[in-house]
Amino acid sequence: MKKIYGNHKLIKMLEDMVKNNHISHAVLFYGENGIGKKTIAEYYTYLLMCPNVKDGKPCFNCKTCHNIADNIHPDIITAEKSGKLGGYSVETVRKICSDAFIKPNNSRKKIYIFKDCSHMDERSQNTLLKIIEEPPEYVYFIFTAESKSKFLPTIISRCMSFGVSPCSEEECQTALLETENDVKSVENAVECFHGNIGMCKSFINDEKIRESVNIVKSVTDSIIRKNEYETLLAMNNLGKEREEIKKSLTMLDLIIRDAVILNYDENPVFIGCYPEGSRNLSDIISLNTGNYIHRLIEKAWHSIGTNVNITLILSALCSEIFEIL
Ligand SMILES: [Zn+2]
Repeated sequence: MKKIYGNHKLIKMLEDMVKNNHISHAVLFYGENGIGKKTIAEYYTYLLMCPNVKDGKPCFNCKTCHNIADNIHPDIITAEKSGKLGGYSVETVRKICSDAFIKPNNSRKKIYIFKDCSHMDERSQNTLLKIIEEPPEYVYFIFTAESKSKFLPTIISRCMSFGVSPCSEEECQTALLETENDVKSVENAVECFHGNIGMCKSFINDEKIRESVNIVKSVTDSIIRKNEYETLLAMNNLGKEREEIKKSLTMLDLIIRDAVILNYDENPVFIGCYPEGSRNLSDIISLNTGNYIHRLIEKAWHSIGTNVNITLILSALCSEIFEIL
C-alpha cells in the first residue's frame, strides 16, 4: 500500500486500538480533500483483517493482505456511489444493511467502506443508523468525509471520529518526489497546497486546478490593487459549476485567513495557496476587515449551494468587500 506521511499519532492510536482489541464498529476519518483519509482508511482495513498483526503492524505478506492490496478481498465492501454529486442512495444503504447479516466469506470480520460522504443525504444516513447502532458482531464500518458536520449527530455519536491532518511540507515534498521528476513543479505545488499530498498531486497533474489557483490569485491581486472592476471580472471566472466555485471561494478564504494571521505573526504556517498575495494583502486588511471578508465569503459559499444566480452572488460579494476596504 501507499506510504503514509504524517499523522504519526493517529496511526499509533489505530494500531494500539487493534492491539488492545478496543475496536469500534464504526470509525470516521475526516479532514480536507487530498489529505490522505482514504490511505489511512486502507491501512486500518489491513489492521482489522490481517491475521498476523505483530506489534500493532499488519504483515502485508499474507493472503489476506495480498487480497486487500489487489482490491479483491470478498469481505471488504466499498459502498457504491450514485447521482451527479456522488452520494449514497437509500437503495444502496438498504442493500448493505441486509448484506451485513450474511456472515463473512473467509474471515472473522466484514468491513463496509463509505468514501467521501460529503453528499450522503439524511434519508440514507437514517437508513444506516439502525445497523450502526446494533451491528452484527463481525461487522465494521469505515467512513471518510471532509468534515464531521456532514453527518447527523446520531451517526456521529455512534462513530469513533479521527481528524486527519496535513503532513509537513518536507514530508509532502519527499512524497511527491517519489513519482515526480520535476523539482520546480513539486516546489510550486507545495507552495500552494503545503502538506496536502493529494492536492499537490492534483496541482501538478491537473491543468484545471492550476487554472483555478491562478484565477484565485488574480482575484487576490485585484483586491490588493483595490480595483473593484478587475476583481469582479476575475470573480466571474472562478468557475462554471457551483462546486468548482465553492472550492475557489474556499481557496480565497484561506488566503484572507493567512493575511489576517500575518498581522500578528511574520512567519506563520501558511494554509492558503498564495503566501505572497497574503503578505501584500495583510498591508490593507486588519483582523476586523479580514473577519468581515471571511463572513462575506462564507455567506456567498452557502448561497452558491442554493439556486440563487451565481453572477448575482459574486457581484454582491465583490461590492460588499469593496465597501469596507
Ligand atoms: Zn497480513
